[in-house]
Amino acid sequence: METYDALLTSITPTSGATRTIPDPATGEAVGQAPVHTVQDLEHAIAAATAAQPAWAALGHEARSAVLLRAADAVERSAEELARLLSREQGKPLNGPNARFEVGACAAWLRVAATTALEPETVVDDGETRAELHYRPIGVVGAIGPWNWPMMITVWQIAPALRMGNAVVVKPSEYTPLSVLALAAIINEELPDGLLSVVSGGRDVGARLAEHPAVGKVMFTGSTATGKAIIKSSADTVKRLTLELGGNDAGIVLPDADPKAIAEGLFWGAFINTGQTCAALKRLYVHDSTYEAVCAELTAVAAAMPMGNGLDEANVLGPLQNRQQYDIVARLVEAARESGARVLLGGNPNDEQPGNFYPTTLVADIANENPLVAEEQFGPALPIIRYSTVDEAVAMANAVDVGLGASVWSSDPDAAREVAARIQAGTVWINKHGAVDPRIPFGGAKQSGYGLEFGVEGLKALGVPQVING
Ligand code: NAD
Repeated sequence: METYDALLTSITPTSGATRTIPDPATGEAVGQAPVHTVQDLEHAIAAATAAQPAWAALGHEARSAVLLRAADAVERSAEELARLLSREQGKPLNGPNARFEVGACAAWLRVAATTALEPETVVDDGETRAELHYRPIGVVGAIGPWNWPMMITVWQIAPALRMGNAVVVKPSEYTPLSVLALAAIINEELPDGLLSVVSGGRDVGARLAEHPAVGKVMFTGSTATGKAIIKSSADTVKRLTLELGGNDAGIVLPDADPKAIAEGLFWGAFINTGQTCAALKRLYVHDSTYEAVCAELTAVAAAMPMGNGLDEANVLGPLQNRQQYDIVARLVEAARESGARVLLGGNPNDEQPGNFYPTTLVADIANENPLVAEEQFGPALPIIRYSTVDEAVAMANAVDVGLGASVWSSDPDAAREVAARIQAGTVWINKHGAVDPRIPFGGAKQSGYGLEFGVEGLKALGVPQVING
C-alpha cells in the first residue's frame, strides 16, 4: 500500500457491524474493525476448504515462491504496517517494537518458505522400504493474542501455507486491524479464499476450535483459553499447537558481571513493555551481587523513554488495554503492601491519558508473592534474592508453566549445567527471549505443547504419512 490512509481504507468495512478500536496511548479512534459472526466464520471455512486442494497441488517449490513474494510485499508496506501496529497495539515504532515486528514477519515468511523438508527414508534394508512424508492437513485455524499480533499471526500462517494448507485466522478482539492489514498485504499474492481473517469474539474462536472442517488449530494465548480449546477440539480429535502463558525465570549466577548484563536483563524483561510471552518475569540474583545488579538494572531502566509510540524517541509504550494495566497495578500494589522495596516506578499517573504504567523494579520480595507467582505481563519486574544455586533452581521451577528461562554467567559451561535443570521449553544463556525462525520454540508444563519454527515447525503443520513397501 502506498500510504497509511490507503492501508487503513483497504481494511475498513463498507457494510455490516463495526467496532471502534482505540489507541492505547491516547484513547483516540484508530479505525473501525468489522464485527464478524459465526456465520462469517462458516463462509470463511467454506472458502478455505474450496481453495486448499489447488494450493496443495502446486507443490512446495511453487508455494514457497508465493510466500517469498508475500515477504517482499510486507517489506514494501513495512512503514505503513508498523504505524498501524504502533497505533493499535501501542508499541513504539522504534526499539525492538513495531518496525522490528514487521521485519520479523518478512523474516519468518522467508524462512518458512526456504526451510527444506524432504521425505525421510526410515528403513531401507533390502526387504523393507519405509518413507515418512508430511501431507497437508487441509484447513488450519489460527487463533492469536494482542501482544505481537502481526508476528504471531505469521508464525502460525507461514508454515501452514507452506505445507499446503488453507488458513482461517481469528485475531484478538483488541488488535484486529493489525492482523487484517497484514493479511490484506499477504493476500495480494495468494489465491482467493486461501487465507481469511474473521474478526470476531470468543464465540468465533470457540466455533473455530470445534469445527469439523478444521483439521488443526494453532493457538497462542493464555493457558486458560488453551485449556478451553483442548476441550472444544476433543470431539473432532483436532491437532493442536498450543503456545500458552509463561512466567519465565532468569537466574544470575554469582560470577556474572552486573554492569555487563544489565542491558540484556532489561530488554529480556521489558521488550514490548513487558507484554511478551517469553519475557523475563522473575529475576533471581545471588546475595553477593544482589545490590549491584539492582543498581545497574535501575540505572538502565530509568534511562529508557516511555511514551506515545509514534514519537521516535520512545522505546517503551502503554499497556495495550486497561484490563492488563489493572492487573499490573494490582500486583505491584500488593507487592508494596507486603513490604517489598520498590526500586523504580510503581506510581502510575492516573490523570494521564492512555494506559501508561511506569517501568517498575521491585526488590526484596518473597517467591510466593503474587507479583512473582503470577504472570504480570507488563513493565514490572520482581527481583528475588537467593543464597545457593539449588535454591534458585527450585524457586525457578516452582510454577506450573515453563515457556522460557535464562541463566546469566561469565562461564557458559557452568550456565549450561544450570540450564539443564530448569523446566522450560527454551533456556537462553546471557540473553532472554531471543526467538529465531530457524530454531524450534515451544513450552514445557502448562505453557503448551507442539513446536513452532524450523523444520519441526513445518512438520507440525503436516499429517505424517508412512509409505511402506
Ligand atoms: P487470550 O487467551 O485471552 O486470548 C487469545 C485469543 O483466544 C483471542 O483471540 C481470543 O478471542 C481467543 N479466545 C478466547 N476464548 C476462546 C475460546 N473459548 N475458544 C477459542 N478462542 C478463544 O490471551 P491474550 O490475553 O490475548 O494473550 C495474552 C496471553 O498469551 C498471555 O498469557 C501470554 O503469555 C500468552 N502468549 C503466549 C505466547 C507463546 O508463544 N507461548 C505468545 C504470546 C502470548
